[in-house]
Order: sequence, then C-alpha cells, then structure tokens
Amino acid sequence: ELIILEAIRQNAQDRRLKDYQKVLESAVEKRTRELNDINVKLEILATTDSLCGVNNRRAFYESSAPMIKYTRREGKKLAVLMIDIDKFKMINDIYGHNIGDEIIKLMASKTENTLRKSDIFGRLGGEEFAAVLPNTSERGALKAAENIRFEIENSEYITQKNEKIRFTVSIGVAILNSDDLDLESILHRADLALYDAKRNGRNKVVLFKDGSEQEN
Ligand code: GH3
Ligand code: MG
Ligand code: MG
Repeated sequence: ELIILEAIRQNAQDRRLKDYQKVLESAVEKRTRELNDINVKLEILATTDSLCGVNNRRAFYESSAPMIKYTRREGKKLAVLMIDIDKFKMINDIYGHNIGDEIIKLMASKTENTLRKSDIFGRLGGEEFAAVLPNTSERGALKAAENIRFEIENSEYITQKNEKIRFTVSIGVAILNSDDLDLESILHRADLALYDAKRNGRNKVVLFKDGSEQEN
C-alpha cells in the first residue's frame, strides 16, 4: 500500500511539475513575442521621420550607402535630388506652424508617390528632402525632378477654414561620377544646384554641371 501511495504522490508531483513547466514556457513565449514587437517598433521609430513617415536622415544615409557602392561596382548610373520647399518660413508665418507641418506632410507624400518604388527618399530636416534614384541617367533624373516640381506646383492644401494654400519646391540634381566615394560628395553637388535654383527664382529644377550649374 505504501509503495502504491508513494507512486501516486510521485505521479501527482510529476504532473504538477509538467503543468508548471507549461505555464513557464508559455510565459517565456509571450515575453519573446512582446520583445520582438518592441524591437520592430523601435526600429521603425529609429528610422522613420515622425512627422511624415518617410525615411529620416539616418535611414536615408544608411539605405543610400550600399546603393552607391553597388552602383559604383557595377558601373551603373545614379542620380541624387535635393528638394526644398520655397519660402517655407512665409507659410509658417502666415498660416502657423501646424499648417506648416501639414504642408511638409503633403509635400512628402506627393513626392514619394511621384518617385519609383526603388528610389530612396528621406527627410533630411525641416522642409528639406533628398532622393537617390538608382539606375537613372541625367535625362531621367531631370524628368523625375520636373515631375515632382510640377506635381507640387499643382497641389494645394485646403485648410479647415477652406483656405487654399499653394506652394512650390526647388530641386537640385546631381549625377554620380567616378570620384564620388560616398553619398556626401554627390549630395553636396545637388545642394549647390539647389542653391542655384533658389537664386534663379525658385520653383525650378537645376542640374549641377562641373563648376557651373545649368538651369533645366
Ligand atoms: P527658401 O525658399 O530659400 O528655402 O526659403 P525658406 O523660408 O523655405 O527657407 P528657410 O530655411 O529660411 O526656412 C525654413 C523654415 O522652416 C524655418 C523653420 O522655422 C521652418 N521649419 C523647420 N522645420 C519645421 C517643421 O518641422 N515644421 C514647420 N512647420 N516648420 C519647420
Ligand atoms: Mg526652404
Ligand atoms: Mg531649407
């Protein structure tokens, strides 16, 4: 009898242990799932611009670097666009910062829709954006930039008071050359071209050309 009783006790203890193990396992599983979700959210937070949901500066640079390396290695073409909203300070001054933010969001989504899926687009800060266009020639880049400029020129933001706000962008274009080791130098040329677009009256696309920028 004692042996049987002992066997029953042992069996009950084993079952309790097994149940306990199951509870522990499912708790660990749940925690792992939660941690994975948190990691995904953190990754999105770290790479996405919180205002307009496009790549932030860091993600733009990180995504562009391998694209530039690949393009150089394969001897292919690549173009960079620097895009900046014209007279944005005035929009903020007239309509307020919140509407300014909405205009930045509208600009980002219109531009992203105009670009190809394979293009890399990001907000560098304020009302300034950049795009890397892989497999794109000078002609193609100018066309892409002109499409964006035209799209923005013909968009309007309608406020709750039914005010219709029109705005424009200036775009500097640069093409990857054999001296470009990374994004920085080509981005700099696109920036110089953008500066020229601003000087030449804004709402313009300007291509950087060795030393002297030429208007499109
Ligand atoms: P330009 O045509 O020469 O580019 O003139 P601009 O007024 O657009 O240029 P500037 O760089 O002088 O002004 C940019 C303004 O953008 C100044 C800053 O207050 C505003 N700004 C920067 N970041 C944000 C933002 O996240 N939201 C809003 N609403 N405004 C911003
Ligand atoms: Mg501006
Ligand atoms: Mg600016």
